[in-house]
Amino acid sequence: MKASVDPNLCIGCTQCAGLCPEVFSMDGTLAVAIPGEIPPEDVPQAVSAAEACPVGAIQTIE
Ligand code: SF4
Repeated sequence: MKASVDPNLCIGCTQCAGLCPEVFSMDGTLAVAIPGEIPPEDVPQAVSAAEACPVGAIQTIE
């Protein structure tokens, strides 16, 4: 699975980086996801973080 953050939607709340720092981090005021495949052990937390995003800015791709 891969994840990406839409910079046009992200409001910089930092929630995803707090919930799943293995995949999401803050780049200035916006969140970014690691490029490429998410390690399998990090997928559940990454999905939880995506679902928790208040503005639906995180997309996941199988
Ligand atoms: S949870 Fe959503 S709005 Fe908040 S920093 Fe992450 S991508 Fe941006």
